[in-house]
Amino acid sequence: MDRIVLTDALVGSPFGVLLLDKAVKAARLAGAEVAGVTLPRGMAPAARCRFVGEAARHGLGCVEGAVPACGDAFTVFVGGRAVDLRVPGGLHDWHAHTQFAYCGRGIDLMDAAALSLALGVETQGFSEHAFALYFPSDALKFRWQGDPGFVEGVWASEGRGRMAAYRAWVEGLRALLGPRVRFGLEVDLFGGGRFCLAPEDREGWDYLIGAIHEVEGLAPGATQAEVVRAWMRDVERLLQQPIQVLAHPFRYFPWAGRPVPRELYRPVARMLAQTGVAAEINHHKNPFELEFFRVCLEEGAGISLGTDAHVTRDIADLRPHLRTLAELGLSPGDCLSP
Ligand SMILES: [Zn+2]
Ligand SMILES: [Zn+2]
Repeated sequence: MDRIVLTDALVGSPFGVLLLDKAVKAARLAGAEVAGVTLPRGMAPAARCRFVGEAARHGLGCVEGAVPACGDAFTVFVGGRAVDLRVPGGLHDWHAHTQFAYCGRGIDLMDAAALSLALGVETQGFSEHAFALYFPSDALKFRWQGDPGFVEGVWASEGRGRMAAYRAWVEGLRALLGPRVRFGLEVDLFGGGRFCLAPEDREGWDYLIGAIHEVEGLAPGATQAEVVRAWMRDVERLLQQPIQVLAHPFRYFPWAGRPVPRELYRPVARMLAQTGVAAEINHHKNPFELEFFRVCLEEGAGISLGTDAHVTRDIADLRPHLRTLAELGLSPGDCLSP
């Protein structure tokens, strides 16, 4: 059982509480059994409360005690060993959300960008859901997907939902945040395979990610074979669109409570290679299909990394991706880069 020991520099950092979250995740991913958190003595009560609260979120208690002298805010001590919470160089995260996402649970783009850059992520991409920018939150259940008239109505409306506002905001942020922060969109299909991006919104993004969150036109009670056929049809359609990345390939199936059609690993990997679209390594709430990425490499498809962060604290959580890259015999430099 190891304790996580926080230094004065870490608890005094503007990222302090978020760094405690990173430390717990890193320790547990490395196999440590974390017994609790040691805070420096004499913290101000308000700051102590925030750290105690964050530790409790992970099921951990805090005590005050002696902590090592260390001036680096990004170093913690786990079981007496120093752990650097920064990520290694050369990592690009192309998939994170913003406060504009309906599925976001407390992410703030500026906080997320600051944390990501501080932790050494080379490029932080934000790829908000295009549908969330166009449609009200009650359209989240993908009813818009089968209602082209509704979609076109929104596209013809003033401001196209929140899209025009988002675009204006992003343009203002570019100069402030610099080239390490990129802006794209995560885009679905609708209306029989059309790309859910209004003509006015086709340009002006650094990149586009294609995603299948829902399969169109499935009757209730569709068989696995029907679902698989319709999903593959949608993958083929999506890969005809101007996307650089296929988000969370195969996630649709576990989320729909269905078995993953592993016989499609190779056909999908081949299509990715042929269309020049990268397969995304994404560990956000999906059982990971490592073997699919092996097949992608055999077929010559590219690889992209995405945290799919929906909360600020999940930004720069790229350690699971690093483990996956090692399992695939890859280094960060083998992944999609700017
Ligand atoms: Zn997605
Ligand atoms: Zn996403």
